[in-house]
Amino acid sequence: MSTTTPASARVPAVPAPLARPERCDRCGAAALVKVTLTTGGELHFCGHHARKHAARLLEIGAGLRSAL
Ligand SMILES: [Zn+2]
Repeated sequence: MSTTTPASARVPAVPAPLARPERCDRCGAAALVKVTLTTGGELHFCGHHARKHAARLLEIGAGLRSAL
């Protein structure tokens, strides 16, 4: 697999407690999973959408963790 992402774009994962409930970016349900993208962006997904997108997110190097 080839990627054009420069090494400098990788940021260390900083565990931080979620101070407020997040919502799924796709459907607005309570988020169960927080996704950290290699670009530094963040997404939140409910269980349904986390499962739906997990394979692709892992493929692009995103970090998934529980948002609970
Ligand atoms: Zn959802």
